[in-house]
Amino acid sequence: MKTIGLIGGMSWESSSEYYRIINETVRERLGGLHSAECIMYSADFEQIENLQHQGKWEELTKLMLNFAQKLEGAGADFIVICTNTMHKMAEEVENNINIPLLHIADATAEKIIEKGLGKLGLLGTNFTMEEDFYKKRLEEKYNIEVIIPSQNDRRIIDSVIYNELCLGIIKQSSKEKYKEVINRLISDGADGVILGCTEIPLLVSQGDVEMPVFDTTTIHAKSAVEFALA
Ligand code: GLU
Repeated sequence: MKTIGLIGGMSWESSSEYYRIINETVRERLGGLHSAECIMYSADFEQIENLQHQGKWEELTKLMLNFAQKLEGAGADFIVICTNTMHKMAEEVENNINIPLLHIADATAEKIIEKGLGKLGLLGTNFTMEEDFYKKRLEEKYNIEVIIPSQNDRRIIDSVIYNELCLGIIKQSSKEKYKEVINRLISDGADGVILGCTEIPLLVSQGDVEMPVFDTTTIHAKSAVEFALA
């Protein structure tokens, strides 16, 4: 079994889900008392979030390189970044380590293609929904059309992530708002929805939505196990 190197803490609410899903999946796959060989570097999210919203991406890139290099030095065989947003600097991370990086959008795209879907709604932080680093990868590498919510809906989605989910706050009222946004994406022609923020599955799951839902936390964590056991 390969050793999984996890860059976590963004926020730890979702990192703990990665840890749980990875270990449960290894137990399902190998049985007995088997659990995952893994190392997590868990960042202080207050610092990360401040730098994100100040637009200090160069500083964030340096931090991410440092986290990845620490994991490589500690014996990780490959890297998993436990947040969609921080894949903004995935390429720089990949280019500065000697071990593979398992990209969250690639793992998700494979599941979308398996289901034969072509047009997906994307929920995530404003960075993930509005910038190119995530959408373009899905569109150019996998030919998946990505649509995003309206500006007002994006504001709701983003605010719930940073002000509730990353603090461990789960509100029924926010779940209802998310469902309304998802329904509007479906009316706009989406064949399914990407939960493109690793905390969103704490609030919304397949049972809440009629169309297929792609939970990037579970997909990414399970693909890490497949890679570790391959
Ligand atoms: N975990 C979130 C994501 O998947 C958001 C937190 C962050 O800004 O990294 O995008």
